[in-house]
Amino acid sequence: MNDLVLEGGRIIDPGRSFYATGDVAFKDGLVADAAGPAATTFDAAGDIVVPGLIDMHAHVYWGGSALGVDADALAKRCGTTTWLDVGSAGAGNFEGFKQLCIEPAATRILALLHISFAGIYAFSREVMVGESLQRELLEPGVCARVAMAHPDLVRGIKVRIGARTSGLNGLTPLHLAIEAAERVGLPVMCHIDVPPPTYAEVCRTLRRGDVLTHCFRPYPNAPCHADGRVRDAVLDARERGVLFDVAHGYGSFSWVTARQMMAAGFQPDVISSDVHTLCIDGPAYDNLVTMEKLLYLGMSLTDVISAVTVTPATWMGRPDLADLAIGSAGDAVVLRRVARPRTLTDVLGESVEAPDRLEVRAIVLGGKLWHIAD
Ligand SMILES: [Zn+2]
Repeated sequence: MNDLVLEGGRIIDPGRSFYATGDVAFKDGLVADAAGPAATTFDAAGDIVVPGLIDMHAHVYWGGSALGVDADALAKRCGTTTWLDVGSAGAGNFEGFKQLCIEPAATRILALLHISFAGIYAFSREVMVGESLQRELLEPGVCARVAMAHPDLVRGIKVRIGARTSGLNGLTPLHLAIEAAERVGLPVMCHIDVPPPTYAEVCRTLRRGDVLTHCFRPYPNAPCHADGRVRDAVLDARERGVLFDVAHGYGSFSWVTARQMMAAGFQPDVISSDVHTLCIDGPAYDNLVTMEKLLYLGMSLTDVISAVTVTPATWMGRPDLADLAIGSAGDAVVLRRVARPRTLTDVLGESVEAPDRLEVRAIVLGGKLWHIAD
């Protein structure tokens, strides 16, 4: 007998190219064959059933870093079942993150280890210090050693590049992050803010399988020219196999850039929120709202779901999180598209009115109903 069945929902499972109305069952923590009886049933008729949603750029080192938010509390609002915390912790403070946040959380937390020793250690309204400004904090050997000590949790190396975060060190922190990543055989995720370095310089440095995060940031260092043409270095990087991730945050998503990129046929590979304490109450809010922004821009619901399930799961080396195949991790979300307008605001204050919104009806974690919305 199965533990749980979500009955009669519209299943959108891009990892298996499976799109049909039907049942999804869970047994012993995993997705199971839906035939036969179940101890618990949930009526998902009229709703959308998707694999557990992944937010591939988030900050959930709550209490241990000023930018960290509470993963489980936020998950109930947005349906994120797996968080990738990207560099809130570095080699010097990862153990605390693991013991204080990752292990106690009901939702799954994976991580990118920051090349900077203490991670993103000073990120608040009052105190803001770029963690890649100081060369002494960037030690690839130590970063690689701690990453290797936690192979199940650490899925890559994080670095922040830009005038605000790496300053006069320019691209050096990215080279050092790649050095650490090569030693452990993991990819790099690189943040970009205002120049220098330029967007093109950063793109040219990234390897196949690396991620450029904050890909739809506003001018300066937008991915396209003023007339909307996508930068050659961006097209070359995509061709080479670099992934482009939204990572909305409080400074990195503008309608102007996003419209230009979508008009040029450049959809993001991954949709993520970059949720942290300075954007959890807007303009990013969470990844469900970020998904709504890409839907508003004309990305199909199937592509949006791909960008928060199979693509990030594959990149993180976790195919068990990619889909609702029998034997996959028992995480799923029941969503409803509700015809209630929502104002969607970018980081520059431009707002649009979306005709509908996505709402979480229920969340399944480890094969059990973990949350049911009232
Ligand atoms: Zn971030």
